[in-house]
Amino acid sequence: MNVLVSNDDGIHADGLWALVRELAKIARVTVVAPDREQSAAGTAVTLWQPLRIRKVRRVIPDVETYAVEGTPSDSVILALGNLVKDRADLVVSGINWGMNLGEDVYISGTVSAALQGYLHGYPALAISAAREDPQTLEVAARLGALLAQRMVSGLPASNVFLNVNVPAVPLEELKGVQVTRLANQSHINTVTEGRDAKRAYYWLVRERISNSGEKDTDMWAVDHGYVSITPVFTNRAGEELHPMLDMLCAGLSGELKKGIDNPV
Ligand code: MN
Repeated sequence: MNVLVSNDDGIHADGLWALVRELAKIARVTVVAPDREQSAAGTAVTLWQPLRIRKVRRVIPDVETYAVEGTPSDSVILALGNLVKDRADLVVSGINWGMNLGEDVYISGTVSAALQGYLHGYPALAISAAREDPQTLEVAARLGALLAQRMVSGLPASNVFLNVNVPAVPLEELKGVQVTRLANQSHINTVTEGRDAKRAYYWLVRERISNSGEKDTDMWAVDHGYVSITPVFTNRAGEELHPMLDMLCAGLSGELKKGIDNPV
Protein backbone atom coordinates (compact mmCIF):
# COMPACT_ATOMS: atom_id res chain seq x y z
CA MET A 1 0.00 0.00 0.00
CA ASN A 2 1.17 3.52 -0.82
CA VAL A 3 0.61 6.27 1.71
CA LEU A 4 1.15 9.98 1.26
CA VAL A 5 1.88 11.78 4.53
CA SER A 6 1.71 15.51 5.19
CA ASN A 7 1.12 17.77 8.18
CA ASP A 8 0.90 21.40 9.27
CA ASP A 9 3.57 21.47 11.98
CA GLY A 10 6.24 21.30 9.30
CA ILE A 11 8.73 18.77 7.98
CA HIS A 12 10.76 18.68 11.22
CA ALA A 13 7.86 17.95 13.57
CA ASP A 14 8.21 14.99 15.94
CA GLY A 15 4.60 13.96 15.34
CA LEU A 16 5.15 13.57 11.60
CA TRP A 17 8.12 11.27 12.10
CA ALA A 18 6.51 9.23 14.87
CA LEU A 19 3.69 8.52 12.40
CA VAL A 20 5.96 7.83 9.43
CA ARG A 21 8.06 5.37 11.47
CA GLU A 22 4.97 3.27 12.15
CA LEU A 23 3.49 3.60 8.66
CA ALA A 24 6.78 2.65 7.01
CA LYS A 25 6.53 -0.79 8.67
CA ILE A 26 3.41 -1.61 6.67
CA ALA A 27 3.42 0.69 3.62
CA ARG A 28 5.45 2.50 1.04
CA VAL A 29 5.43 6.04 2.42
CA THR A 30 6.12 9.38 0.75
CA VAL A 31 6.35 12.50 2.90
CA VAL A 32 5.46 15.87 1.36
CA ALA A 33 5.09 18.52 4.04
CA PRO A 34 5.48 22.27 4.53
CA ASP A 35 9.07 23.37 5.19
CA ARG A 36 7.93 25.26 8.30
CA GLU A 37 5.20 25.59 10.91
CA GLN A 38 1.84 26.14 9.22
CA SER A 39 -0.59 25.46 12.05
CA ALA A 40 -3.96 27.20 11.64
CA ALA A 41 -3.21 27.78 7.94
CA GLY A 42 -6.63 26.28 7.24
CA THR A 43 -7.45 25.44 3.65
CA ALA A 44 -5.18 28.16 2.18
CA VAL A 45 -3.87 27.41 -1.31
CA THR A 46 -1.08 29.47 -2.91
CA LEU A 47 -2.16 30.75 -6.32
CA TRP A 48 -0.29 34.05 -6.67
CA GLN A 49 3.29 32.97 -6.43
CA PRO A 50 5.29 29.95 -7.58
CA LEU A 51 5.93 27.07 -5.22
CA ARG A 52 9.27 25.38 -4.62
CA ILE A 53 9.85 21.79 -3.63
CA ARG A 54 13.04 20.61 -1.96
CA LYS A 55 13.88 16.95 -1.86
CA VAL A 56 15.44 16.40 1.54
CA ARG A 57 17.66 13.70 2.97
CA ARG A 58 15.66 10.69 4.04
CA VAL A 59 15.12 10.51 7.78
CA ILE A 60 13.84 6.96 7.44
CA PRO A 61 15.29 4.62 4.78
CA ASP A 62 13.03 4.16 1.75
CA VAL A 63 10.81 7.11 2.67
CA GLU A 64 11.08 9.76 -0.02
CA THR A 65 10.83 13.14 1.66
CA TYR A 66 10.01 16.53 0.21
CA ALA A 67 9.71 19.95 1.87
CA VAL A 68 7.35 22.45 0.24
CA GLU A 69 7.60 26.23 0.57
CA GLY A 70 3.86 26.47 0.98
CA THR A 71 0.81 25.50 2.97
CA PRO A 72 -0.39 22.04 3.98
CA SER A 73 -2.95 22.12 1.13
CA ASP A 74 -0.23 23.17 -1.34
CA SER A 75 1.87 20.21 -0.22
CA VAL A 76 -0.84 17.64 -0.86
CA ILE A 77 -1.90 19.20 -4.17
CA LEU A 78 1.71 19.18 -5.37
CA ALA A 79 2.23 15.65 -4.15
CA LEU A 80 -0.84 14.24 -5.86
CA GLY A 81 -0.37 16.29 -9.02
CA ASN A 82 3.36 15.87 -9.46
CA LEU A 83 5.37 13.87 -6.94
CA VAL A 84 3.39 10.71 -6.25
CA LYS A 85 0.62 11.03 -8.85
CA ASP A 86 -1.38 7.81 -8.73
CA ARG A 87 0.95 6.14 -6.27
CA ALA A 88 -1.33 6.78 -3.31
CA ASP A 89 -3.91 4.56 -1.69
CA LEU A 90 -4.42 6.86 1.27
CA VAL A 91 -3.56 10.40 2.39
CA VAL A 92 -2.65 10.86 6.06
CA SER A 93 -2.01 14.16 7.81
CA GLY A 94 -0.35 14.52 11.21
CA ILE A 95 0.36 13.72 13.83
CA ASN A 96 -0.52 17.20 14.95
CA TRP A 97 0.88 18.39 18.26
CA GLY A 98 -2.40 19.32 19.93
CA MET A 99 -5.89 18.04 19.29
CA ASN A 100 -8.20 19.33 16.54
CA LEU A 101 -11.69 19.17 17.96
CA GLY A 102 -15.04 20.72 17.10
CA GLU A 103 -14.71 23.96 15.20
CA ASP A 104 -10.90 23.56 15.07
CA VAL A 105 -11.32 21.50 11.94
CA TYR A 106 -12.31 24.63 10.01
CA ILE A 107 -8.97 26.38 10.60
CA SER A 108 -6.70 23.38 11.05
CA GLY A 109 -3.91 22.90 8.53
CA THR A 110 -3.71 19.26 9.61
CA VAL A 111 -7.32 18.64 8.69
CA SER A 112 -6.95 20.70 5.50
CA ALA A 113 -4.02 18.62 4.23
CA ALA A 114 -6.13 15.47 4.59
CA LEU A 115 -9.09 17.31 3.09
CA GLN A 116 -7.13 17.82 -0.13
CA GLY A 117 -6.60 14.07 -0.30
CA TYR A 118 -10.32 13.50 0.19
CA LEU A 119 -11.23 16.10 -2.45
CA HIS A 120 -8.94 14.29 -4.88
CA GLY A 121 -10.87 11.08 -4.28
CA TYR A 122 -8.61 9.32 -1.79
CA PRO A 123 -9.52 7.99 1.62
CA ALA A 124 -8.07 10.47 4.08
CA LEU A 125 -7.09 10.53 7.70
CA ALA A 126 -6.15 13.48 9.92
CA ILE A 127 -4.54 12.56 13.25
CA SER A 128 -3.96 14.85 16.21
CA ALA A 129 -2.62 14.07 19.68
CA ALA A 130 -2.90 15.84 23.02
CA ARG A 131 0.14 17.90 23.89
CA GLU A 132 0.39 16.98 27.55
CA ASP A 133 2.34 13.75 27.21
CA PRO A 134 4.89 12.94 24.46
CA GLN A 135 3.96 9.24 24.81
CA THR A 136 0.61 10.11 23.26
CA LEU A 137 2.44 10.52 19.95
CA GLU A 138 3.51 6.88 20.05
CA VAL A 139 -0.05 5.72 20.72
CA ALA A 140 -1.38 7.98 17.95
CA ALA A 141 1.26 6.69 15.54
CA ARG A 142 0.30 3.05 16.17
CA LEU A 143 -3.34 3.93 15.83
CA GLY A 144 -2.60 5.75 12.57
CA ALA A 145 -0.94 2.67 11.12
CA LEU A 146 -3.79 0.39 12.22
CA LEU A 147 -6.39 2.72 10.75
CA ALA A 148 -4.42 3.12 7.53
CA GLN A 149 -4.35 -0.64 7.13
CA ARG A 150 -8.06 -0.98 7.82
CA MET A 151 -9.03 1.93 5.58
CA VAL A 152 -7.14 0.59 2.59
CA SER A 153 -7.86 -3.11 2.94
CA GLY A 154 -11.07 -3.26 4.92
CA LEU A 155 -13.40 -0.45 3.90
CA PRO A 156 -16.08 -1.24 1.37
CA ALA A 157 -16.11 2.37 0.12
CA SER A 158 -12.98 4.39 -0.46
CA ASN A 159 -14.00 7.99 -0.20
CA VAL A 160 -13.99 8.52 3.54
CA PHE A 161 -12.46 11.30 5.58
CA LEU A 162 -11.78 10.70 9.26
CA ASN A 163 -10.57 13.18 11.86
CA VAL A 164 -8.89 11.33 14.71
CA ASN A 165 -7.91 12.72 18.11
CA VAL A 166 -5.91 10.89 20.75
CA PRO A 167 -6.12 12.08 24.36
CA ALA A 168 -3.19 12.07 26.81
CA VAL A 169 -4.16 8.81 28.51
CA PRO A 170 -1.68 5.96 29.10
CA LEU A 171 -2.44 3.17 26.64
CA GLU A 172 -3.50 0.71 29.34
CA GLU A 173 -6.02 3.24 30.70
CA LEU A 174 -7.51 4.16 27.32
CA LYS A 175 -11.26 3.52 27.52
CA GLY A 176 -11.65 2.67 23.85
CA VAL A 177 -12.49 4.22 20.51
CA GLN A 178 -15.65 6.23 19.86
CA VAL A 179 -17.16 7.34 16.57
CA THR A 180 -18.26 10.90 17.24
CA ARG A 181 -19.53 14.10 15.68
CA LEU A 182 -17.86 17.50 15.88
CA ALA A 183 -18.65 19.54 18.98
CA ASN A 184 -20.35 22.81 18.09
CA GLN A 185 -17.77 24.86 19.90
CA SER A 186 -14.32 24.15 21.18
CA HIS A 187 -12.66 27.51 21.76
CA ILE A 188 -13.20 31.09 22.62
CA ASN A 189 -11.21 33.63 20.66
CA THR A 190 -9.87 36.69 22.41
CA VAL A 191 -7.82 39.63 21.22
CA THR A 192 -5.01 40.92 23.39
CA GLU A 193 -3.79 44.43 22.65
CA GLY A 194 -0.47 45.98 23.54
CA ARG A 195 1.85 48.73 22.39
CA ASP A 196 5.16 48.17 20.69
CA ALA A 197 7.19 51.40 20.40
CA LYS A 198 4.80 53.73 18.53
CA ARG A 199 2.19 51.28 17.34
CA ALA A 200 -0.46 49.02 18.71
CA TYR A 201 -0.16 45.29 18.19
CA TYR A 202 -2.71 42.54 18.63
CA TRP A 203 -2.44 38.89 19.50
CA LEU A 204 -5.27 36.55 18.65
CA VAL A 205 -5.55 34.03 21.48
CA ARG A 206 -7.55 30.83 21.31
CA GLU A 207 -8.51 29.23 24.57
CA ARG A 208 -10.21 25.91 24.80
CA ILE A 209 -13.52 26.01 26.63
CA SER A 210 -13.72 23.67 29.59
CA ASN A 211 -17.21 22.34 28.90
CA SER A 212 -16.84 19.07 27.02
CA GLY A 213 -20.34 19.22 25.60
CA GLU A 214 -22.73 16.52 24.54
CA LYS A 215 -22.02 12.87 24.89
CA ASP A 216 -21.69 11.95 21.23
CA THR A 217 -19.14 14.68 20.42
CA ASP A 218 -15.40 14.51 19.86
CA MET A 219 -14.73 16.78 22.85
CA TRP A 220 -16.70 14.55 25.19
CA ALA A 221 -14.90 11.44 23.97
CA VAL A 222 -11.36 12.73 24.51
CA ASP A 223 -12.29 14.33 27.84
CA HIS A 224 -13.51 10.94 29.02
CA GLY A 225 -10.48 8.94 27.95
CA TYR A 226 -11.56 7.71 24.50
CA VAL A 227 -9.93 8.07 21.12
CA SER A 228 -12.34 10.09 18.97
CA ILE A 229 -12.93 9.22 15.31
CA THR A 230 -15.12 11.73 13.51
CA PRO A 231 -16.25 11.38 9.90
CA VAL A 232 -15.98 14.91 8.49
CA PHE A 233 -16.97 16.74 5.30
CA THR A 234 -18.84 13.71 4.08
CA ASN A 235 -21.99 13.66 2.04
CA ARG A 236 -22.66 10.06 2.86
CA ALA A 237 -25.91 9.34 4.61
CA GLY A 238 -25.65 8.14 8.19
CA GLU A 239 -27.30 4.79 7.37
CA GLU A 240 -24.43 4.03 5.03
CA LEU A 241 -21.60 5.61 7.00
CA HIS A 242 -22.19 4.30 10.49
CA PRO A 243 -22.20 0.55 9.79
CA MET A 244 -19.00 1.12 7.81
CA LEU A 245 -17.35 2.99 10.68
CA ASP A 246 -18.49 0.39 13.22
CA MET A 247 -16.77 -2.18 11.06
CA LEU A 248 -13.65 -0.03 10.81
CA CYS A 249 -13.46 0.37 14.57
CA ALA A 250 -14.39 -3.18 15.60
CA GLY A 251 -11.71 -4.52 17.94
CA LEU A 252 -9.52 -1.50 17.21
CA SER A 253 -8.65 -0.52 20.77
CA GLY A 254 -7.76 -4.12 21.63
CA GLU A 255 -5.48 -4.26 18.64
CA LEU A 256 -3.98 -0.90 19.55
CA LYS A 257 -3.10 -2.14 23.02
CA LYS A 258 -1.52 -5.24 21.49
CA GLY A 259 0.56 -3.35 18.94
CA ILE A 260 0.94 -3.91 15.24
CA ASP A 261 1.80 -7.53 14.59
CA ASN A 262 0.21 -8.25 11.26
CA PRO A 263 1.57 -6.00 8.53
CA VAL A 264 -0.04 -6.34 5.11
MN1 MN B 1 -0.30 22.05 13.87
